[in-house]
Amino acid sequence: MTYLDHAATTPMHPLAADALVAELGRVGNPSSVHEAGRAARRAVEESRELIADRLGAHPSEVLFTGGGTEADNLAVKGLFWARSGADSRRRRVLVSAVEHHAVLDAALWLGEREDAEPVLLPVDGAGRLDLSALEAELGNHADEVALLSVMWANNEVGTIQPIAEVVALAHAYDIPVHSDAVQAVGPLDVEFATSGLDAMSVSAHKLGGPVGVGALLLRRDVDVTAVQHGGGQERGVRSGTFATALIRSFAAAIDAAVAGRREQGGRVAALRDALAVAVLAEVPDAVVRGPAVPGSPLDAARLPGNLSITFPGCDTDALLYLLDSLGVQCSAGSACQAGVTRTSHVLLAMGLTEADARGTVRFSLGRSSTRADVDTVAGVIGDVVARARAAGSR
Ligand code: PLP
Repeated sequence: MTYLDHAATTPMHPLAADALVAELGRVGNPSSVHEAGRAARRAVEESRELIADRLGAHPSEVLFTGGGTEADNLAVKGLFWARSGADSRRRRVLVSAVEHHAVLDAALWLGEREDAEPVLLPVDGAGRLDLSALEAELGNHADEVALLSVMWANNEVGTIQPIAEVVALAHAYDIPVHSDAVQAVGPLDVEFATSGLDAMSVSAHKLGGPVGVGALLLRRDVDVTAVQHGGGQERGVRSGTFATALIRSFAAAIDAAVAGRREQGGRVAALRDALAVAVLAEVPDAVVRGPAVPGSPLDAARLPGNLSITFPGCDTDALLYLLDSLGVQCSAGSACQAGVTRTSHVLLAMGLTEADARGTVRFSLGRSSTRADVDTVAGVIGDVVARARAAGSR
């Protein structure tokens, strides 16, 4: 099997799997005061300290959630409710047009149900936020803005956003900034404190941990209204019994991902570049999407494992089906859309035509990727594209 869908979910790191299995044998609710409860609580707090350390944060800033989607919803809705509650003029929710649906749909839902005004900020042809559009929006409406959310790195085309500039612009007007760093943590050097961000989302299963756990990193002085109520865990912002085993495994995964980042990043980027060269040699009219520089298929302002590529005249469903039948697993845009292939809002926001967006495939590489994966794709892609084109012209 040639698994090239690491951005959708990546295999668990052996150390994270070991930690998960070891913890599953434990009994004790970390909120109970007896010895078993206190021992479980220690496991949670040690994990919190490790995660905070590896992400350049204070342990009290790490709030565990059920994954990236929950962290994004808590940030967008919680910041909106806190800010608009304190000042009813603050109804504008600024998000980049290329956000994951966990941010985008949360902002649109606030518009439909809570009288918010979602504002989608444009990007350039490589998927990079248009900073002058952000500057203009802030210059005209700063008093009406509740929050700004701009992802650290894009899940479909791998574009890394200028987070430092975004934070500087928004903070000049005291506007809190959230970033979905789900795809960034692991491959990139992500430091919460130095980023200046107010809130940041992380998900374990994108970096070698288990599905079903993540975190919202939230500065102590930032007010967020709880979305979910109950036992008052996590500063009262996210109630729910601590998932001790998942949290322990998440910490082991972050530890391993950060320790191996430099070596893995270089290795994975080199494989990804080799894949781009091989695919372009077989299909010369294919077009690489996202940041690129002349002379090299891809550049540094992009996730090391991402290759987004348009095959003109093809339909993604046909491409994915043919590749899958040959054992090659990859995605059209984002896989996190409940199995429905919708035309990617990310590619459309970058200015692609509907037809080009519908012929775009995302290969994403990770820790278990090898040269053999590249060779397998190189060996089949020419024929697959020819068959997809023939199917489309019928
Ligand atoms: N944000 C981004 C950028 C993602 O790529 C994903 C998943 O693809 C999510 C959020 C959702 O994270 P989770 O699967 O942990 O809910």
